[in-house]
Amino acid sequence: MKNVLISGASIGGPALAYWLRRHGFEVTVVERARGLRPGGQAIDVRGPALEVIERMGLGEQLRSFDTNMRGMTMLDSEGNELFSSTTHTVSGGDLSSPDVELLRDDLANMLFNAADGVEYLFDDTITSIDGTRVTFEKAAPRDFDVIVGADGLHSNVRRLVFGPESEFISHLGMNLAVFTAPNWLGLDHWQTFQQGEVVGGGIMSARSNAECRVYMGFNGEATFDHRDVDAQRRLIAEKFADADWEWQTALKHMWEAPDFHFDSMSQIRMDSWSRDNVVLLGDAGYCGSPLSGQGTSMALIGAYVLAGELHANAATAFQRYEEIMRPYVTANQDFAVRNSASQGALSGTDEFYRIVNDFQLTTY
Ligand SMILES: Cc1cc2nc3c(=O)[nH]c(=O)nc-3n(C[C@H](O)[C@H](O)[C@H](O)COP(=O)(O)OP(=O)(O)OC[C@H]3O[C@@H](n4cnc5c(N)ncnc54)[C@H](O)[C@@H]3O)c2cc1C
Repeated sequence: MKNVLISGASIGGPALAYWLRRHGFEVTVVERARGLRPGGQAIDVRGPALEVIERMGLGEQLRSFDTNMRGMTMLDSEGNELFSSTTHTVSGGDLSSPDVELLRDDLANMLFNAADGVEYLFDDTITSIDGTRVTFEKAAPRDFDVIVGADGLHSNVRRLVFGPESEFISHLGMNLAVFTAPNWLGLDHWQTFQQGEVVGGGIMSARSNAECRVYMGFNGEATFDHRDVDAQRRLIAEKFADADWEWQTALKHMWEAPDFHFDSMSQIRMDSWSRDNVVLLGDAGYCGSPLSGQGTSMALIGAYVLAGELHANAATAFQRYEEIMRPYVTANQDFAVRNSASQGALSGTDEFYRIVNDFQLTTY
């Protein structure tokens, strides 16, 4: 078993490609976008995921991308300051922890550049999987021993092999848009958040204060097409139409943002992450939602374990991957549900870090 196809080139996909190459596999990655996708909020590499990055020899590079946040301010719905903190932030948690907070696209680029000899098929997607036979929208059909869905919350591989998304997704009652804008507030390694009754969000400086990332969210369930970005922008514009503070300026920047990203805060829960020669990794199989604070770390750890188990014994790999990952995933997903019920107040608490660190990394 030597030939692996991975769908999705964000975090889980390229991390798995790296480890599989290191174990001597042939690897092809198919990605629907024309190249690595830009954008996404600041994400965190924590606990055992930091060790995975160290084992890749990328620890120093990872830390060089740290957002280096100094702190945050929280405002009430009128824009009055509720509190400021230099010990924790909404986006990153405890500032004294060894966690590295960085921009999603910096991590994706770093992982993409880490492995040699990986074949990337951009601007393409899988249209069918029949045993080892895979057909693509553009590339010619080919055979692969193993097919991995690392294609996110709205996974194509999951839909093709396991069934419709509606069977596995649960909505946590919040929705979030993220995009890049000029740093019009002049924030210096700082983030300012505001929580209203229904809408809320924040603005944080990014890339040495040259720009900022804007978060705009709202509570409740929303119906939207996850591929129709303009409709998603209209939805945010509608929700924030009467919002004051800086939100009207934020909306102007939203229309010009090259990397607008919007989704519901949802989880994927499945009884099994594999079927025959197909397996799911990261958000595709066990999305925790941003409220878990652990989507990226779970994808990095999952990639390390899955590659290691495939290398150790292909016959038992999927079962072992699931046995090793399942308790950790469940604890993090359950935490996100509790965190959602408390409007995000559990992020960065002792309880959170106990769950984050409760994983023993094997050596393969
Ligand atoms: C552009 C973008 C912005 C994001 N922003 C945030 C954010 O602000 N906050 C947050 O918490 N999480 C965000 N995420 C999700 C976050 O990256 C993941 O939770 C986490 O890092 C786990 O990564 P993953 O590789 O499992 O999935 P993802 O990062 O979601 O990556 C999935 C990849 O699969 C690709 N893909 C999708 N469908 C297909 C298909 N049919 N064929 C081939 N490839 C396909 C996507 O283009 C993407 O590159 C974002 C993801 C993306 C892609």
